[in-house]
Amino acid sequence: MGKVNRLVCVKCGKTYPFGAYITCPACGLEGILDVEYDYDLARRALTEEPLRVRSQANMFRYLEILPVDEVPSQMLRVGWTPLYRFDRLSEAVGHSQLYLKDETVNPSGSLKDRASAVGIAVALREQRSTVACASTGNAASSLAVLAASAGLSSYIFVPEDIPLAKLYQIATCATKVFRVRGTYEDAFDVATGAIARWNWFNRNCAINPYLVEGKKTCSLEIYEQLGYRAPDWIVVSVGDGCIISGQYKAFKELQILGEIPHLPRLLAVQAEGASPIVDAFNSSGEVSPVRARTIADSIRVGKPRNWRKALRALKNTQGVAVKVSDDEILDSISLLGHRCGIFAEPAGAAGFAGFLKARKAGIISADETVVVIITGSGLKDPSSVEPKIQIVEIEASEDAVEQHLS
Ligand SMILES: *Cc1c(COP(=O)(O)O)cnc(C)c1O
Ligand SMILES: [Zn+2]
Repeated sequence: MGKVNRLVCVKCGKTYPFGAYITCPACGLEGILDVEYDYDLARRALTEEPLRVRSQANMFRYLEILPVDEVPSQMLRVGWTPLYRFDRLSEAVGHSQLYLKDETVNPSGSLKDRASAVGIAVALREQRSTVACASTGNAASSLAVLAASAGLSSYIFVPEDIPLAKLYQIATCATKVFRVRGTYEDAFDVATGAIARWNWFNRNCAINPYLVEGKKTCSLEIYEQLGYRAPDWIVVSVGDGCIISGQYKAFKELQILGEIPHLPRLLAVQAEGASPIVDAFNSSGEVSPVRARTIADSIRVGKPRNWRKALRALKNTQGVAVKVSDDEILDSISLLGHRCGIFAEPAGAAGFAGFLKARKAGIISADETVVVIITGSGLKDPSSVEPKIQIVEIEASEDAVEQHLS
């Protein structure tokens, strides 16, 4: 493809032509590739002036720096999600330039749709009829939903402990869903084997370099929605490390295109019980797998696949990495709900919990512009909020209502 210059291995630096490989043949699964474009070509189309008059209100408005030639003609709409600033939230937390990028409104309810959309477009171009992936839930439901809309078959592998709402969403849209007796790591390994054996199109994000390209569109939108500038901070919850890598890539490319003078800092947020990337960043720089435990199932990743890209993103942006407790996550869900009407799933609110922590610790200062990405919808895992919500059970009478009002 003319606009893609080459693929570069993040481990060894070897370069390959577009489409040659999914991962670096010299490094194996650890050799995740990075897509590089012809930025001189992109510069003519993706600067502020031409972008301002572009009408396409979805993620494919950045086609010049996506590994896709054609937008799938029959697919649910992904991206161009709202960027909000709520006075009531700013007052509650004492931070005026605080923005929320609401990814809950994507078709399957999470940011993962941005990656799946690119996956589907690439699969269609390669004339593949079947797509597959393993996922803790959202990548899977996203792939099932978008594949169904684009007329592709989908085989989906999920771990045993997947939240039921996600499982039902997948089962409703997928060709077949395999619930693997084991963890996400087990599901991932089974899927990797099956995908190779039956030659399905692999949507596993950490491995397929084209999918992170979809995720970066979130920050390209943020840049436009903030008035063609970068914020001081982008806050994102981290599991495998693909979303954070995508946001880094977006700003890096905006810098290459001459649109922003410097990169925003990244704040990576993980749950206390599943924090291999935070721990690696704050210590040795090497990731050691852990047994992951947190209510935030979408970031319940003990062995992150894309840690190398994630750590590079943090390093190159003077980033910071923090951990939050499940309790802090639940409090953030409640705060976002009561102050903004946004219902986030635990991993979707974890970033916000991390923002509060960084703010309190003085890592983020009061005058800085912060964008927190709300990565997924609470409807994906509604029972997770049970420990914190209050429901008033009453007899069916007005008297009963009155009793509870006084
Ligand atoms: C997948 C996911 C994340 C984490 O993204 P990674 O790319 O795995 O780091 C965070 N929040 C939600 C809702 C997700 O679905
Ligand atoms: Zn390599």
